[in-house]
Amino acid sequence: MVDAATKKLIKSISIDDTSSIKAAMTAIDAGGIGLALLVNSEHQIFAGLVTDGDIRRALLAGSGLSSPVASIPRPNATVSQSEMSTSEIASLFSKAIRIIPILNKNNQVVDLAIMESRVRLPIAEPVIGEKELRYVTEAILGGWVSSAGSFITRFEKLFAGYCGSTYAIATSSGTTALHLALAALNITTNDEVIVPTFSFISTANAVCYTGARPIFVDSEEESWNIDPELIEASITPATKAIIAVHIYGHPAKMDAIRKIASKNNLKVVEDAAEAHGALYKGHRVGNLGDVGCFSFYGNKTVTTGEGGMIVTDNPDLAEKIRILRDHGMSPTKKYWHIALGYNYRMTNLQAALGVAQMEKIDSLLAAKERISVRYSEALKNVPGINLPQSHDWAVRSTWLYTITVNTKSFGKNRDQLMEFLKSQEIDARPAFPSIHKQPIYNTGQKLAVAEKLSNTGLSLPSSVNLLDTDVDRICTVIKTFHEN
Ligand SMILES: *Cc1c(COP(=O)(O)O)cnc(C)c1O
Repeated sequence: MVDAATKKLIKSISIDDTSSIKAAMTAIDAGGIGLALLVNSEHQIFAGLVTDGDIRRALLAGSGLSSPVASIPRPNATVSQSEMSTSEIASLFSKAIRIIPILNKNNQVVDLAIMESRVRLPIAEPVIGEKELRYVTEAILGGWVSSAGSFITRFEKLFAGYCGSTYAIATSSGTTALHLALAALNITTNDEVIVPTFSFISTANAVCYTGARPIFVDSEEESWNIDPELIEASITPATKAIIAVHIYGHPAKMDAIRKIASKNNLKVVEDAAEAHGALYKGHRVGNLGDVGCFSFYGNKTVTTGEGGMIVTDNPDLAEKIRILRDHGMSPTKKYWHIALGYNYRMTNLQAALGVAQMEKIDSLLAAKERISVRYSEALKNVPGINLPQSHDWAVRSTWLYTITVNTKSFGKNRDQLMEFLKSQEIDARPAFPSIHKQPIYNTGQKLAVAEKLSNTGLSLPSSVNLLDTDVDRICTVIKTFHEN
């Protein structure tokens, strides 16, 4: 939508293409953005643009103020069509081209893309298209805006099918999915649950919500996931479950984790919040333990704004999760509460978004893969930049493309690189701080691999709509920073 101020600006800088240089200067002055738009006097369509630099050069070369502005030498105007995406338009920007007129089908200027406001590359932007709009509109027009409605069941069915699970239960977030899964597994006060320390805070917080205690374990070097070799040393008589997080979309070593779990009679919960569609030895994650949890937060690979999903093959567990999600209410008797439950339901509006997103998940994952391959290719020879590694049995579903920075070889540390990227409008993020070091946990443990990842890891922009030229620009900025 073009705002009123932009419309006014376009009007104030538009002049007839038969106007004089003086008229163009007046228009440039009125707009304050250094250029004027020429409009064809006969057909009222875009006929080019003139910058204050073009005029200065023309005057220096001897043109007079009353000379026709259309006659002065100037480069061809860079324009864009209104159906181009923001990132396609952003790829047209350069040092010399900071303002791009956007034309409609009739070649009239309807908007202006201005570099300062458009060129920022966010960490992971959702791609909400026409289909999402259509489905959400359908949900609204049908009146089903709360947590009943056909999109909920459609979304759950689609997601279960995608993961190869028998059941899928939609929730209000990834965090509430984790809490529900643990609660349904009867995890409670005085229990212990083993979690990787290198994860987002929710993994541990969900354990605490049940009254149990998270026990933090270090990562393995290659995939950054929980190191199965370190799990057994943390098992006590109070241990009830292990949460395997597939961090940044790389699957954890599930065979080893399952083996330890069955030997010690523990449940396995997958936190697949960052790993939609990742493959462990050819199998989709989420369905590799007792129960799997996903997040659909705005920057996750599949989004519903806020939202989550639990998948399982266990009918009793699925039933219990559904009951706990809905205030612990009996499925057969209204307002009859058989458990201390929660309101962790997803709305039909969110599910409408989710169905549209699941219908294009293959293209979302393909885009993430394209970005990831391009980053790795461009950064592979930069001293001090370590690329994300994958085990040969894994297919990563890159949520965020995350590198680590070796200060000595790179010449600057992670934070310096992050700040520099930010100064170039590139939204890089630090890797998660290890949870055992967070103020609310602060266990005093020394978990060396995770702590190093936390201090050196840097996630680069990984939006599905990132262009190859955006990735190239980011890599050039990194290389330039290393070299200077
Ligand atoms: C995003 C995330 C969550 C939480 O999901 P929300 O939907 O934001 O509640 C949990 N675990 C991990 C590893 C995550 O990245």
